[in-house]
Amino acid sequence: MKANRKRVVIVGGVAGGASCAARLRRLDEKAEIVIFERGPHVSFANCGLPYYIGGVIADEEALLVTDAERLNDRMAIEVRTETEVIGIHRRAKEVEVRHLPSGKVMRERYDALVLSPGAAPIRPPLPGIDLPGIFTVRSIPDSRAIREWIAARGAKRAVVVGAGFIGLEMAENLVHLGLRVTLVEMLDQVMPPLDAEVAHAVERRLREEGVMLALGDGVAGFQNEEEQLIVETAGGKRHCADLVILAIGVRPETALARGAGLRLGERGGIAVNAAMRTSDRAIWAVGDAVEVTDRVSGGKGLVPLAGPANRQGRGAAESIAGRRTRFPGVLGTAVCGVFGLEVAMTGKSGKALRRAGISDYEAVYLFPLDHAEYYPGAKPLLLKLLFQCGTGRLLGAQAVGEQGAARRIDVIASVLALGGTVYDLEQSELCYAPQFGSAKDPVNLAGMVAAAVLRGEMPVVQWHEPDTERTRWIDVRAPEDYHAGHLPGAMNLPLEELRGRMEEVRALAAHGDLRVYCEVGQRGYLATRLLLQRGIAVRNLTGGYRMKCLAERGG
Ligand code: FAD
Repeated sequence: MKANRKRVVIVGGVAGGASCAARLRRLDEKAEIVIFERGPHVSFANCGLPYYIGGVIADEEALLVTDAERLNDRMAIEVRTETEVIGIHRRAKEVEVRHLPSGKVMRERYDALVLSPGAAPIRPPLPGIDLPGIFTVRSIPDSRAIREWIAARGAKRAVVVGAGFIGLEMAENLVHLGLRVTLVEMLDQVMPPLDAEVAHAVERRLREEGVMLALGDGVAGFQNEEEQLIVETAGGKRHCADLVILAIGVRPETALARGAGLRLGERGGIAVNAAMRTSDRAIWAVGDAVEVTDRVSGGKGLVPLAGPANRQGRGAAESIAGRRTRFPGVLGTAVCGVFGLEVAMTGKSGKALRRAGISDYEAVYLFPLDHAEYYPGAKPLLLKLLFQCGTGRLLGAQAVGEQGAARRIDVIASVLALGGTVYDLEQSELCYAPQFGSAKDPVNLAGMVAAAVLRGEMPVVQWHEPDTERTRWIDVRAPEDYHAGHLPGAMNLPLEELRGRMEEVRALAAHGDLRVYCEVGQRGYLATRLLLQRGIAVRNLTGGYRMKCLAERGG
């Protein structure tokens, strides 16, 4: 009787694998569903691991979303932990598995096979990489080992290598534990998916919180000297530590797929179609191990995030159950908490657009408050919006702020996913009460600013555009702001005086490249409208003096 049931075998029982199993059971009560998981836990919250290490999540049990027993009792899903799938025999439709505690190797048949093995932290073959005290963070046992190491040694100093999401979360949590943290990053910025000028806002906060940043310098090797780890960099620096966290990225786990001759994609992930099917019709693959289509550029990419893994797991289940399903690709919508800052993004950054060969885009920056100014506690957001010239199609957005950044990026991501434009943001109807937003929400404002650029109502100049001999700057802020700091050579003509001093403006405009700026771009916009309507060509510095200072690390 059992042999006649469709047997679905799933490799990896966390985000993608567990989602797939649970969805499949809801669609097919008859199928036999078996999960093989190499580690001791299924369905644990890897995203919570840095907070468990930092003690914010005190109880390890809290990381267990569910367990093998519950999956079996509630959903009749068989879970075999500490069992590694070591080979796939496609012709026989069997997997070879090893029960790790006993070493016993068995063969298990499948009708449908789902690969969700995730991605492994990169451990480059550097001298000293295997020294004790150098950790990666992927599993609960990894995290427990880090906690125990810190406690046993009374660790005081840590080096975190890699300033992506996991590196930043680890830096914050180690600081919370009282450690002095140095963050070593090969690139000249933290948070590589962000544009560098936006990342500067994050760097500033990290420095304020005492994290030492060693940017633009890769790790060359590790030494052990008198019970201390020494992290040596390519630039000849030596950083001393009691422990090192390696967070330099992840690599899709493709060994099984490769061994079975499944097709891999151009970026090294498992190639799948929109139904998450691999080059073998009986095998599906999901999560960090697969290559996905970028919804903005149409190219292929590796996007190791929990949301896509969960939705792909569901998609594979639908496909196995015989339903039509289509995973639409990814935008890379993500958020990271960094010492009270929400750092969020969706779609493509400016540098990613350039890498993809897309140059017909424009960017605007703004610093709206997260909620109405008159209601206590409003905080500014830095918002960057990228959109296509001409059509206004949204391409990407980044936001950093203490409150409300993630919410705005989520709204923009939803519009972006539907192929929307800056005009759609302009018209988005969003909830408002003074403690939550503004009648013109930051999302609306971003759309309005971008639409003003596209309609020719506000030509903009970017912070990185160099001055030419013809450039003349007008600073339209109040004199006290101007005297506190201004662009070299800028003339102070406060907005309120502009109408009465048109002769001076015309004299400056006669040089051919008149530019205005204020603190964040709003008064500059008013000045731009005023001048354009008087027939004077002018451009407004988008994001204003604040953005220019931040971008040039003066902020
Ligand atoms: P995983 O969830 O990693 O599961 C793969 C499982 O497969 C592993 O448990 C592994 O042991 C098992 N396995 C592998 N090979 C075999 C084999 N041969 N046999 C049996 N079992 C095998 N994403 C976010 O969106 N937001 C976050 O805040 C976030 N924070 C993160 C923090 C950390 C520290 C980490 C490590 C990841 C974080 N992620 C976050 C990423 C997110 O966890 C992953 O994108 C997601 O878990 C991928 O799901 P997956 O099913 O592909 O792989």
